[in-house]
Amino acid sequence: MTENMNWENEWWYSWGKEIVENDSTIWEKKKFKPLDGYWITVDGGKLLAKVVENENVPKDAVIERAVWDHEHCGICLKKISEHDGDQHEGYTGEGKWVCPECFEKYISPKRKNSN
Ligand SMILES: [Zn+2]
Repeated sequence: MTENMNWENEWWYSWGKEIVENDSTIWEKKKFKPLDGYWITVDGGKLLAKVVENENVPKDAVIERAVWDHEHCGICLKKISEHDGDQHEGYTGEGKWVCPECFEKYISPKRKNSN
């Protein structure tokens, strides 16, 4: 059990680190809006994917309106959604989201230093 915990922490760490250290990401402050999603069948199982502008949706995909109703901060995993009690806005870039708190704490200082 402990081993599993460590693995998760490590995974989280490299993921969060990736977000913070990727200087090429253009971050944009946005209010979260639910996105349409689509279901595709992969190996007999159903998979939900995001409908992204300028990207083609597979022919056999089934679109579901506003199904993608929340995101998680890539660093602290806080929920970002339109629901009461959740963070309503965040910074988004390359399909990733971070909450304003983490942005100010981890990403913003780093950007200032590197310029
Ligand atoms: Zn956060």
